[in-house]
Amino acid sequence: MDRQKAIKAVEDLLDALGADRNSEGLRDTPRRVADAYAELLSGENQTAEGHLLKTFTAASGEMVIERDIFFSSTCEHHLMPFFGTVAVAYIPDGKVAGISKLARTVEVFAKRLQIQERLTEQIAEEIMLRLAPKGVMVICEAEHTCMTCRGVKKFGSKTISYSVKGDFPEEKKREVFNLLK
Ligand code: ZN
Repeated sequence: MDRQKAIKAVEDLLDALGADRNSEGLRDTPRRVADAYAELLSGENQTAEGHLLKTFTAASGEMVIERDIFFSSTCEHHLMPFFGTVAVAYIPDGKVAGISKLARTVEVFAKRLQIQERLTEQIAEEIMLRLAPKGVMVICEAEHTCMTCRGVKKFGSKTISYSVKGDFPEEKKREVFNLLK
């Protein structure tokens, strides 16, 4: 990110909004906003690859479910946050990921300009690519501030998206949905 350019852009935005940039509260706002976006979009130049390279051998092949992975991301349509939880269910084919690694993977994709559906897809694709499970299902449940803060929808309303890759039998899907209810 070009920090100086971002600071200038926020200054221009405040000017366009007719705000008094020299007031005490707004004086450092362009810098603060630029730094906040740098952090919110820190996944733009990262790959998730490293996080899923360290795997463990799983003999059983039973479904693994990691739930309540919290994330916050930035909606590319409004540059506003959307946040919630991701659940990852996969049926290993010899390899399982370390507990914290799935969360790190979610983080890399969340810290980008995103839409929820693409975020969900990218997590599923990455797990498919790196862990090579028999099948994976990713469920993402999120609240979009661009909807809930603008009066279109009520606070707390959630959008749910999911992505299934590989061979993930219907009864396993039902099992996952039941568990997440
Ligand atoms: Zn939005």
